[in-house]
Amino acid sequence: MTRFDTIVIGAGMSGVTSARMLADAGQRVLVLEARERIGGRMNTDRGAGFPVDLGASWIHGIDGSALWDLVQALDIPTLEYTVGSFQVGGRPIENFDGDGRAMDEAATQRWIDDVEEADRLLVDEIAASSAGDTYLDVTERALDRTGFDPERIDEIREFFRHRVEEQCGAWIGDLDAHGLDEDAIEGDEVIFPRGYDELPRRIGAGLDVRLGSVVTRISRSSSGVVVATSDERFEAAHAIVTVPLGVLKSDAITFDPPLPAEVAGPIGRLGMGVFNKVFVQFPTRFWNDGTYVIRALGEAGESWHSWYDVSAVSGIPTLLTFAAGPFGRRMQQLPDEEIVDDALTALRGLYGAAVPEPQAHWVTRWGQDPYSEGSYSHLALGSSHHDHDELAGPVDGVLHFAGEATWGDEPATVGAAYYSGRRAAERVLGRPVDLAAFAAAITERERTEGR
Ligand SMILES: Cc1cc2nc3c(=O)[nH]c(=O)nc-3n(C[C@H](O)[C@H](O)[C@H](O)COP(=O)(O)OP(=O)(O)OC[C@H]3O[C@@H](n4cnc5c(N)ncnc54)[C@H](O)[C@@H]3O)c2cc1C
Repeated sequence: MTRFDTIVIGAGMSGVTSARMLADAGQRVLVLEARERIGGRMNTDRGAGFPVDLGASWIHGIDGSALWDLVQALDIPTLEYTVGSFQVGGRPIENFDGDGRAMDEAATQRWIDDVEEADRLLVDEIAASSAGDTYLDVTERALDRTGFDPERIDEIREFFRHRVEEQCGAWIGDLDAHGLDEDAIEGDEVIFPRGYDELPRRIGAGLDVRLGSVVTRISRSSSGVVVATSDERFEAAHAIVTVPLGVLKSDAITFDPPLPAEVAGPIGRLGMGVFNKVFVQFPTRFWNDGTYVIRALGEAGESWHSWYDVSAVSGIPTLLTFAAGPFGRRMQQLPDEEIVDDALTALRGLYGAAVPEPQAHWVTRWGQDPYSEGSYSHLALGSSHHDHDELAGPVDGVLHFAGEATWGDEPATVGAAYYSGRRAAERVLGRPVDLAAFAAAITERERTEGR
């Protein structure tokens, strides 16, 4: 059996980052990836001749972001799109009230003021919250303090619920009161007109990545690890496990001996949410030029509430909407046609007959994917921010964990995957890895290898 220095399990953003840093440091690295592609939850479908990002799309805030620095160093083009996070203002949003009527400027401004006021009160309520309080508890207390009439409160309540669903893929009553603490956006947000998976693919190019290799067992001793798939075994001094939290929860991989409480505890306590995307492409545009987002409040937006104009990527009128949390879990059981019909009915409630029959659609089902078992992690009631970083290990000095769920600062993001991948590589090497040198090595390799 060949012995490697490090085996990385999973070729998503965290896995390729760790593997590339270790290989650059001269290590013999093997990457075992279950799927037939690199990128994990960064997955671009180019089947129609233009990119459709079925997983991550956005960098949520480029100011001070080392991920943004990497994207720039690799000269990857981006488009500014600053409403990927659930915001009320900032960029043009076409709002519709609970009866499906377009809101004028004054009504929109009042709506923005209402949410901002409730959010200010919410900050205090979160600070004053006790262990065991859910995000629903603190939002209800904040709403009580607004003094608004019941109808206004209902719309903000629904907005808070939808925000938790989109940011965490979770039901508001299952999220810890501190579950959105790490949600601040610094600076503009951007998307990727060539497809976001370019990033992990370029980092991973040239690595020894064995696609279609589903890891089922990881044994460890003080001298190293043995990693097994259904028909092969590999040995190494270290393993870095980057499979999603949902996969760790599913017990698809047996750890021998079992994981200690320091790591098993966070796996059990943290939540894995479901956040699905539905893209609908139309022959003609029926929403206003310059609109970034269409948002329906109250009853009009009960299920399908936010529509993001991503036409700039393909040049064809395209809206992206989300189904997340309990709604996302129900939705993914249905056939595409039913899902798209339901979404169109909601849209026609806003624009009437102006909504034509779509010419194409894309629907994701991340909660049913055995190599993801959900979309991203969140702070479920009973867990703490600490749990994310605790999950990284190491265990017995040989077993490390990386991936979005292991990074407490901004979990559930590509940035978290990147930074956690670097941390795992640094722990294996026992020294820091410089990010500028990392990026420069990628472009230099591409230049010399003519890629
Ligand atoms: C629909 C959706 C939208 C998102 N939008 C954004 C966004 O706009 N911005 C943002 O920053 N983040 C977003 N995210 C989150 C972001 O995609 C993830 O945080 C990030 O890509 C996770 O990277 P990772 O390396 O931790 O995990 P992954 O990318 O999931 O990589 C883990 C790898 O492990 C592999 N694997 C699983 N099981 C096994 C096994 N048994 N053996 C071997 N390999 C295995 C998987 O196939 C996968 O390739 C979104 C996620 C989803 C699902």
